[in-house]
Amino acid sequence: EARYAHQPEFIQAVKEVAITIAPLYDSHPEYDAFKVFERLVEPDRVMGFRINWENDKGVVQVNRGWRVQFSNALGPYKGGIRFHPTVNQSVLKFLGFEQIFKNALTGLPMGGAKGGSDFDPKGKSDNEIRRFCYAFMRELHPYINKDTDVPAGDIGVSGREISYMFAMYKNLTREYGGVLTGKGVGFGGSLMRTEATGYGAVYFLENMLTAQNERIDGKRVLVSGAGNVSLHAAEKAHMLGGVVVTVSDSQGTLYDGAGLNQEKINWLKAQKAKSQPLADYVAVYGGEWFAGQKPWHIKGDIAIPSATQNEVNEDDAKLMVENGIKYVVEGANMPLTAEAIDHIRLHRVHYAPGKAANAGGVAVSGLEMSQNSVRQYKTFEEIDARLKVIMKNIHDGAAEASEKYHQTDKGYIDYMTGANIVGFKRVADALVAYGILN
Ligand code: NDP
Repeated sequence: EARYAHQPEFIQAVKEVAITIAPLYDSHPEYDAFKVFERLVEPDRVMGFRINWENDKGVVQVNRGWRVQFSNALGPYKGGIRFHPTVNQSVLKFLGFEQIFKNALTGLPMGGAKGGSDFDPKGKSDNEIRRFCYAFMRELHPYINKDTDVPAGDIGVSGREISYMFAMYKNLTREYGGVLTGKGVGFGGSLMRTEATGYGAVYFLENMLTAQNERIDGKRVLVSGAGNVSLHAAEKAHMLGGVVVTVSDSQGTLYDGAGLNQEKINWLKAQKAKSQPLADYVAVYGGEWFAGQKPWHIKGDIAIPSATQNEVNEDDAKLMVENGIKYVVEGANMPLTAEAIDHIRLHRVHYAPGKAANAGGVAVSGLEMSQNSVRQYKTFEEIDARLKVIMKNIHDGAAEASEKYHQTDKGYIDYMTGANIVGFKRVADALVAYGILN
């Protein structure tokens, strides 16, 4: 802990796993003998590089970029690329570390990685984004390949950025392969990749509700964020009968007591795609805009935080409990601080950690990789059916591990411990089998 005191997000992610997998170590002394945990907390390697690019005024800009290859015990390194000014090694190491176990939970052959840059896409023109993506890939390309490391999107990186980066990779290597996922449908992308994380989180939620003999119909859902994960979580929750009353972004929270419908969600998607303010919604559809505020002061049954890490602190968690929230499903990666998690669990709020609940995105990325390999594509319905099965398997695996290791308390399932145990065990067993390599 002392060695990485300057990487607080990374420490937070490692601590959570370390504490929750303790019951597993009692029955698996070989994990100790092979120093599995000590090996997993150090990435295989971290590549850092400088990115020079030119803005619209012809002025050279300099940014920093990284790729953290954490573990390829179960398959090629796999994990998204984030463009956001807050990106640093601590953030990428926490994301890469979590990604190892998330990818293991999907049951698909993928290792864990993460990458990105402190480049801020806000306010940049399309030409600037394109020049930056080309420059980023010029630096990244020696480290990735369809069989070694396959990046995807994340905050600030969606279909447009993936397309630019894919073009540059193809140009530099003369190779047309599945080196990036989240590509456009029509040039190697999988149907449903865009929707997969948000939809998958709601499928996970459905399984949690079923385990408590409840249904989503009529329940009030608070969503934070207004990006890829948030708006698709909102869309699926609405499709299944939930009443989604909030979305938010870095400027504030939008509240619509009548609930979002498809037309409103389409409007929100278009508005964010144009980088226009969420607040404009009120003039079109009514509702209320809370500038500079998060959604948690509003009453609801279910919260799906889907913006960014540590967006929900202990005070927010207290508000959630006071406002009637019974389920928290993490659409984002590590959106709750450790104190916030402790608080909601103390009040028996059912809690699904991100590495389980938001694994649908990377799962469909895994399906994109296999479709690229065989050069045949599946229908939307086929992928959706696979996604539902994968999310149910993750849910059931975590619930069974919670029960097996005596963490389930009178019907309250410890998904955090269960998911960490299942994911960790898959990776640990591979590392033991490999001996001291990897
Ligand atoms: P997007 O860039 O599409 O959207 C991010 C949203 O969160 C935006 O509305 C943004 O607001 C808001 N946001 C970002 N940072 C902050 C901040 N510091 N404070 C307040 N709001 C913020 O990203 P995604 O939807 O792809 O990702 C969201 C989360 O989900 C991340 O934690 C990501 O790692 C995780 N995730 C994403 C997956 C995917 O498939 N995309 C897969 C699994 C996890 P604004 O528009 O104002 O910047």
